[in-house]
Amino acid sequence: MTRTALITGSTSGIGYTIAKAFASKGYNVMFHGLETNGAEIARKVAEEYNVKTDFSNANLMHPEEIEKLVTATLEKFETIDTLINNAGIQYVSPLEEFPLEKWNAIIAINLTAAFIASKAVWTSMKKNKFGRIINISSVHGLRASEYKSAYVSAKHGMIGLTKVLGLEGAGSNITCNAICPGYVKTPLVEGQIKDQSKAHGLTEEEIVQKVMLKKQAVKEFIPEEKISELALFLAAENSSAITGSSYTLDGGWTAQ
Ligand code: NAD
Repeated sequence: MTRTALITGSTSGIGYTIAKAFASKGYNVMFHGLETNGAEIARKVAEEYNVKTDFSNANLMHPEEIEKLVTATLEKFETIDTLINNAGIQYVSPLEEFPLEKWNAIIAINLTAAFIASKAVWTSMKKNKFGRIINISSVHGLRASEYKSAYVSAKHGMIGLTKVLGLEGAGSNITCNAICPGYVKTPLVEGQIKDQSKAHGLTEEEIVQKVMLKKQAVKEFIPEEKISELALFLAAENSSAITGSSYTLDGGWTAQ
């Protein structure tokens, strides 16, 4: 039986690596993201792994576009077995200068979109008596850092949402779990390295070692493949007893 995964923000970074990993295991994949080459990415992965893919550029700022993304995926593939709420943005600023519109965008994309997408797939997953929802939270869903008020709030909120969906899905074989990575070198983080290098007057290498990886015991970026391996494990049929949990993949950050 061919399974289908809908992965938001899968035309870049962590989401892309997860999408390829799922395709390599025979899943059909609905790609999604704002990258302009999204359709081409989806086509190449379909060719490489001999699976079906499609692509949507639904803007997660708009609830009706998220609902349409889910409907289009169900129309194309009939089921959504795994939903991975991965898309996210970051904005870093001291509280007194933090723009309200950035706060609203981060809450909308990093938290509310996961609620809307999960709600939209719920009836179908319940009917199928199978569903795996995986929320890509962050170590910042468990710990705070200065200047990230919106991101830390959204990622903590996502862990709360994960627990509630874990409870509500019990009995319908719908699980919901969160993955909480430390720093992964993706476009989202490359932007932060450049910004912080300018702000602190340090080289990019100094920012990585002295600022970013300071809180990780393992002083290396987390490999994206480790996140996709964990996602595949959580999506498996026999992971049905694992729900409402958060998994750190943070190089020892939260052990301290
Ligand atoms: P990325 O910037 O490489 O990818 C983000 C994806 O989200 C892109 O495909 C982008 O198009 C999509 N996206 C952003 N805004 C959107 C919108 N309004 N509508 C639709 N799509 C939108 O980032 P990444 O580093 O791969 O991050 C993926 C997830 O992992 C995020 O939720 C992020 O918070 C989380 N995370 C990242 C790190 C890290 O160090 N990179 C660490 C922990 C958690």
